[in-house]
Amino acid sequence: MRNPRYPVTSGTTLRCKGWRQEGLLRLLENVLSVGEDPDSLVVYAALGKAARNWAAHDAIVEALTTMEEDETLVVQSGKPIGLLRTQVQAPIVIMANCNIIGQWAKAEYFYELEKKGLICWGGLTAGAWQYIGSQGVIQGTYEIFMRIAEKHFGGDLAGRFILTAGLGGMGGSQPLAGRMANAAILTVDVDPERAEKRRAIGYVDEIAPDLDTALQRIAHARHHREALSVALVGNAAEIYPEIFRRGIVPNIVTDQTSAHDLVYGYVPAGLPLAEVRALRQNDPAKLMALSRASIVPHVRAMLDFQRHGSVVFDNGNLIRTQAREAGVANAFDIPIFTEAYLRPLFARAIGPFRWMALSNDPDDIRRIDDLVLERFPDNAIVTNWIRLARENVPFEGLPARIAWLGHGARTELALAVNDMVASGALSGPIAFSRDHLDAGAMAHPNIMTEKMRDGSDAIADWPLLDAMALSASGADLVTVHSGGGGYAGYMTSAGVTLIADGRPTAGERLARALTNDTSLGVMRYADAGYEDALDEAAAKHIRRFDVPSEAVERRG
Ligand code: NAD
Repeated sequence: MRNPRYPVTSGTTLRCKGWRQEGLLRLLENVLSVGEDPDSLVVYAALGKAARNWAAHDAIVEALTTMEEDETLVVQSGKPIGLLRTQVQAPIVIMANCNIIGQWAKAEYFYELEKKGLICWGGLTAGAWQYIGSQGVIQGTYEIFMRIAEKHFGGDLAGRFILTAGLGGMGGSQPLAGRMANAAILTVDVDPERAEKRRAIGYVDEIAPDLDTALQRIAHARHHREALSVALVGNAAEIYPEIFRRGIVPNIVTDQTSAHDLVYGYVPAGLPLAEVRALRQNDPAKLMALSRASIVPHVRAMLDFQRHGSVVFDNGNLIRTQAREAGVANAFDIPIFTEAYLRPLFARAIGPFRWMALSNDPDDIRRIDDLVLERFPDNAIVTNWIRLARENVPFEGLPARIAWLGHGARTELALAVNDMVASGALSGPIAFSRDHLDAGAMAHPNIMTEKMRDGSDAIADWPLLDAMALSASGADLVTVHSGGGGYAGYMTSAGVTLIADGRPTAGERLARALTNDTSLGVMRYADAGYEDALDEAAAKHIRRFDVPSEAVERRG
């Protein structure tokens, strides 16, 4: 929700020398406005920051307000380093966030560097000033549920039971996404405050007083094919095995507790929250061991459900990795959501694309919603989501929308929007960005690139190439991120933001950057041998080379 102490700027009065700089400044303000702890520059996930420190933040603001269009601001892990003289079609901002050399890319070393003020973690959208509040994760979770519905349940989750855990910053969107997908969803969280927070904003319909009541409410909703979201306060490591012991097998099981961080995130079974908080300060090593031990029955129950017919998937919180390290040898029988459900979309470079109204006028987003419905009537993924989001998803900071669009469609939409800005049909410029979790933009062997067909899971060349291509294409902000905290060493990704200010030059940048970004995404999957990507490349005339990936053999 928007923080009144960190307002976003409205209207069309410029503080900077152009809309490209002003737009990025408003996006920086926006991530603080919707962030969790803006006083500490934290946008989400305890450590995901918009800038290194307040001096760095103020210097970024100063740079954006004074720089010329032919300059490029260089930001290293949230700290502005200087201005380079480039040219008017070059990026306004280039960033590198939290990239640590491989051998050193460990949580402990990251914490050391962070303590010294040498680095900060930008998450994916925090450091890149792209976070729009919970809409992105609601949409992503909804999309996963709908792909599962399509693959396993005839396209509909009415009458189906989803069991999950975690009602935090990201996980808290699960009950709403489940209800939007028509399911009966039970979300377990150990923290009563988290459950109440989600009930108060309407994502959770009801908090059940105990497991019996929760299961009865779910059974009733299933029977009547009603969409319902129930929360239960409890520890997933105890509740999941108990549900299994009772012989109840949900249709879909996942988990979004913060299992990636065994000290500051996951809560082990049997410990009161106050004791966990004390151990975080006094004995983190003991807490880590207890968390790891607790993840064992938690993941074993997920595997039990899987064996008995549930569709079980990992939702990107590293719970399988933790379980395997704790001795659950078959933890990776649980698939990651990307590989199981989203890869056919990514292979066509269809992924989460978002736009934000920089004048802070919600009508601009409504007009673009109408445009999308009109332009892409046959694209059920997008039209379905736009209709649902209009009804169910409140705007948080700057009015914004996210929707899954692919190669060609993103460019078409952005150019049409740029024309609307130029003609005055919108009240101000629009910023476009896409999630780092996108076709050509991320190497993350436990999430995005797990089990790539050609085995290229851990190769980080792709996001680096993507960032270079985006810079060469004149995108307004281009960034390369790696993981911090518990995610250190796990991923590299590229982010991009573009400002449609209505000028023809903006149209040129939008067309080049968006087309090249998605082209590279299709090329990445085509290179790995995915038929969807090969088909997309051929159909859309993407000029790629079909060179076999083989170890070198001697010429001659
Ligand atoms: P968060 O820290 O805000 O919330 C985690 C929640 O889990 C808290 O409410 C906590 O009380 C609860 N919890 C912890 N241990 C529990 C247990 N044993 N039983 C029940 N509840 C427990 O974290 P978040 O921002 O919601 O993110 C959750 C996880 O999802 C993180 O690991 C995050 O990195 C991951 N994530 C993945 C993706 C993706 O790739 N799909 C996207 C966003 C977040």
